Amino acid sequence: MDGTPSFFAARIIILQEQREGYSADAAAVPDNIGKVEEIMKEFTNVSEIFGSNVFNDTVMQERLPKKVYKELKKTIEEGKELDLATADVIAHEMKEWAIEKGATHYTHWFQPLTGVTAEKHDSFISAPDESGKVLMSFSGKELIKGEPDASSFPSGGLRATFEARGYTAWDCTSPAFVRQDAAGATLCIPTAFCSYTGEALDQKTPLLRSMEAINVQALRLLRLFGNTTSKKVTPSVGPEQEYFLVDKAKYLQRKDLIYTGRTLFGAMPPKGQELEDHYFGNIRQRIAAFMKEVNEELWKLGVPAKTQHNEVAPAQHELAPIYTEANVAVDQNQIIMKTLKMVACRHGLQCLLHEKPFAGVNGSGKHNNWSITTDDGINLLDPGTTPHENVQFLLVLACILKAVDEHADLLRESAADVGNDHRLGANEAPPAIISVFLGEQLEDVVEQLISTGQATHSKEGGKLETGVRTLPDLNKDATDRNRTSPFAFTGNKFEFRMVGSKDSIAAPNTVLNTIVAEAFSDACDVLEKAEDFDMTVHDLIKQYLKEHQRIIFNGNGYSEEWVEEAARRGLPNIRSMVDAIPALTTEKAIALFEKFHVFTKAELESRVEIQYETYSKALNIEAKSMIDIASKQIIPAVMKYTKTLADTVNSVMKAGAEAKVQLEVLGEVTDLLGETKDALARLKELDEKSAEIPEGEKLARYFHDEVFPAMEELRTPVDKLEMIVDKEVWPMPSYGDLMFEV
Ligand code: ADP
Ligand code: MG
Repeated sequence: MDGTPSFFAARIIILQEQREGYSADAAAVPDNIGKVEEIMKEFTNVSEIFGSNVFNDTVMQERLPKKVYKELKKTIEEGKELDLATADVIAHEMKEWAIEKGATHYTHWFQPLTGVTAEKHDSFISAPDESGKVLMSFSGKELIKGEPDASSFPSGGLRATFEARGYTAWDCTSPAFVRQDAAGATLCIPTAFCSYTGEALDQKTPLLRSMEAINVQALRLLRLFGNTTSKKVTPSVGPEQEYFLVDKAKYLQRKDLIYTGRTLFGAMPPKGQELEDHYFGNIRQRIAAFMKEVNEELWKLGVPAKTQHNEVAPAQHELAPIYTEANVAVDQNQIIMKTLKMVACRHGLQCLLHEKPFAGVNGSGKHNNWSITTDDGINLLDPGTTPHENVQFLLVLACILKAVDEHADLLRESAADVGNDHRLGANEAPPAIISVFLGEQLEDVVEQLISTGQATHSKEGGKLETGVRTLPDLNKDATDRNRTSPFAFTGNKFEFRMVGSKDSIAAPNTVLNTIVAEAFSDACDVLEKAEDFDMTVHDLIKQYLKEHQRIIFNGNGYSEEWVEEAARRGLPNIRSMVDAIPALTTEKAIALFEKFHVFTKAELESRVEIQYETYSKALNIEAKSMIDIASKQIIPAVMKYTKTLADTVNSVMKAGAEAKVQLEVLGEVTDLLGETKDALARLKELDEKSAEIPEGEKLARYFHDEVFPAMEELRTPVDKLEMIVDKEVWPMPSYGDLMFEV
């Protein structure tokens, strides 16, 4: 990546600006400029390390015989099947290359429906020969296909135990890489994971299918506008990843963080994020050292980590890579999450990827930036520079509005995740209501088109002419920012901001690609039959805008008025994961996914089952952790404290003085202890009862409706106690300790 030194140069400019504008941090900033310059010096070899552990196009060109390279490129670009002889040559060269990087093992690296990646390692060694020597071998067959015994991965009933085998198949569109960690070096081969009968058991398979769907439909649309040159259309994705860093030693004293990834108890510290002094603030040295190593690790793996900054909450940060094609971006995001965790460990830190590690403090999400681009570099979401492109852009925009409005429930579902329930609609992340932000100018254009049937002007200067009397001229860069919108147009891409920080971005992109493919397909069905193309396209844009205008909202998405207004518009407000899951198997959803061969009905049903199960399991673990922590840590500590208080009362009274204040504190603590014990008993009872409820939707609902509120009831008196009880006695680090002492 050649942009990196300039990235650091940009960082210095930011720091210089801060020095001028930021009186509070003025002293620290000049110091940091020096540090960044130092880092820059070390990074002058960035172009050397970037992609050094990736079996990328350059390596393939260098190492593969010309004919084999050509065959492989055909497979990558056109999906042509690889023959075994070619695969053998590729496997051999890949193995030789990996061994040079120190690899002893290879793994088919896949993404089952657990939300994380999975791998089973095999070494390259073959059986020893007569002289006792082993050879390092790797065949085409081993490269292309694996058969892990996968009976323990969630399949949602798709796979009976007698056919427990799952199959992993090489996804050659995402490059193989060598990962170096405590296990040594391992050649990782990105793969899809399917059942014996070919049903998808993973995140990648449907994503790849959805990319094909949007490719076919977008090409149809482009041809209608006279484009005869583009051969392929690919969705591009740039996910911004948020995360928290806490001190590892403190983390290890918090059983809730260890078991569930979030704090189940915890009173707010005297200082939170209200001063907004953390956002884009100075990066502390310990964190800077961590980020430097994260970047280096990622660059080696070909992940173009680009932007890093502190986020809103204390101890919260963000990392954004440069966007790339969707399936590679999904893989790279998994690599990013894993790398953040691994490098944190080396620095005595713990990286928290949970959506809501701390109640009352902003949680973490992932902004999924999405656009659609042709192989010859045309971004369909770019308003363009010529009149004819602008009409095409308006149609694409109208199609996307239609897609998002018609399938708002699916898009919402794609971001549903146990942790995300704590964020969405909580005034820190987009509301649970899907709407689209277009910015002032585009919204005005849409309104003109709808109200008068003609839009002949655009609000601001610097127009791009459409050349069509009844269509507006567009201003290229008139998109302002609205951080409260779940789905915002930002210049030449849409930013889907609902996704949880821990979640894979595969599902949101699968849904986006498919719903937009459908809208393109519907539009093409009309336009391909049109006698007067210009007239028909104009009418179609108008019709779509009129029918789906309700999805556009440019105001404050965090406000209560919006919740009411959205209800009036009939937009769904799906508040929890349990409420979101059924969207996957509505008639509308099944028809959509089957039409574009992204999911079969059986695959959708299996996903529904897995999601309910995931929800129930996660809540059960949270409830059990709370019970454990309250019984074994909090109640004993508070009892000890009441004894100290009682002793104090006694000695004060013995001395003949009045112990009014001491008695008041003792009374307060005793009352809260009583409340805690009652709430604990209630939670225990409810959690035990869950064993009697049938699995699936019923059980998930039970956890959502009964167990979760009981958890909140236990938390309330405990958090009050934390504010009264002596810090020395409290059995775990506080929010303040975790967030401010990193
Ligand atoms: P923000 O100001 O929204 O925080 P960032 O720079 O943090 O912006 O992240 C923006 C992300 O969007 C990056 O990952 C960037 O590569 C990505 N991006 C930029 N242009 C496109 C595009 N046309 N399609 C998809 N993603 C894009
Ligand atoms: Mg950002």
